Amino acid sequence: MTGTRLRCYIYGLAASKSMIRKLEVSRKLQKRAEQMIPGGVNSLVRAFRSVGMDPPFIVRGQGSRIWDADGNDYVDYVGSWGPLILGHAAPGITEAIGAAAKNGTSFGASIPSEADLAELVISAFPHLEKVRFVSSGTEATMSAIRLARAYTQRKYIVKFEGCYHGHADAMLVQAGSGLATGRIAASSAGVPDGILADTLVVPLDDASALDRVFDEHGATMAAVILEPLPANYGLLPQRSEWLHGVINHCRTAGSLVIFDEVISGFRVGRGGMAEEFGVRPDLVTYGKVIGGGFPVAAYAGRADLMDHVAPAGPVYQAGTLSANPVGMRAGLATVGKMDRLDGWRALNDRAAQFCSRLSTAFTDVRAPIDIVSHASIFWPRVASSQPVRRVDQIHEHQRAWYAKFFHAALRRGVYLPPAAFEVCFLSMAHDDDILRSAVDLLADAAEEAGTP
Ligand SMILES: *Cc1c(COP(=O)(O)O)cnc(C)c1O
Repeated sequence: MTGTRLRCYIYGLAASKSMIRKLEVSRKLQKRAEQMIPGGVNSLVRAFRSVGMDPPFIVRGQGSRIWDADGNDYVDYVGSWGPLILGHAAPGITEAIGAAAKNGTSFGASIPSEADLAELVISAFPHLEKVRFVSSGTEATMSAIRLARAYTQRKYIVKFEGCYHGHADAMLVQAGSGLATGRIAASSAGVPDGILADTLVVPLDDASALDRVFDEHGATMAAVILEPLPANYGLLPQRSEWLHGVINHCRTAGSLVIFDEVISGFRVGRGGMAEEFGVRPDLVTYGKVIGGGFPVAAYAGRADLMDHVAPAGPVYQAGTLSANPVGMRAGLATVGKMDRLDGWRALNDRAAQFCSRLSTAFTDVRAPIDIVSHASIFWPRVASSQPVRRVDQIHEHQRAWYAKFFHAALRRGVYLPPAAFEVCFLSMAHDDDILRSAVDLLADAAEEAGTP
């Protein structure tokens, strides 16, 4: 055993020892919540149902760690599902939030910091000229779609299978048995057929399906919306040629391109995936990181487009808590700190090193698992000989394997997303020591989980 390996082993023992305590307090809290809140949660994945357990209730977070109500502590790879790029209660951010809150948390009136964050968002990507703040990613994509339809005076929207754009009705659809049969199924009860009819769903990385949909509906296509780095059905990095193909189709047909960068914006880098691909989407949505842990999201684009939004134009959109002072300050402090630290470069370098070490460690324990990663996002995925760019290419045992892996990791004090198709996030607070120990703990967990 090398020194590092030994240190991690001891750390691992300490971590698993700290996990002896049962989740008794959490279970009581869950029972209480279930009496009043559907399923006991206010966002479905928090229920831990897909990994078959009751969730720990979290009472504190600091840096890369979180603590539950039973006193267990974990290294957190969820990061509130993406926003916490600096880690929990990050120095500088909590102070900025406190200072803002002291002066009042909401006025429903214009405040100076809106323009500061607007400037920051626009400067991230030279092609953007105007931005409107809202309170969630759902609102951002919903509003961007309304704007696209108003601007083009067309009705159809294309979305890709497996891409998530929040829970507005028009986006809660997925391909049924594909375009061939034209059957489209809602992902939720309560979504009227009439709304599904105007959303066309095509598989990712399928140029001919896209050709077909544009041949048929190009003239009435308002926009194509996509996650340029699909990260809500596992992590499904796309080929640049395919992405350029999507954009070319839109340009030819006069449809708009909407990049949903709610998860990738200010996460993979300052300019998001638009900058990485070197493309100019007409509209971009942001969320998660730009709120620094507060409910802030945005949609942005060229001025001539954005000026269709009320009161400059006829497209209605409003929000009681939009651009609230605390959220603006949290976002400013977060992005500002990442800028000062050259944070994206540092974080992405560290993440690349971590993922490569993790891959090696998994190979060492003969776990047939690939670590798919992009910048500081990663996803442990049951290995496959083909590249996985589409939902139907994900291994059929992903769900079953992940549940075992998840429990083995949790017992070792590693808190992963409680769902097989959700991605993991690193933050600036995950230092080299934490990551080195995580490699060994996760390799042990993968060994325990066994072959898929
Ligand atoms: C998280 C997410 C959303 C939804 O954002 P909410 O703030 O949860 O409404 C939309 N699009 C993408 C790509 C996301 O990752």
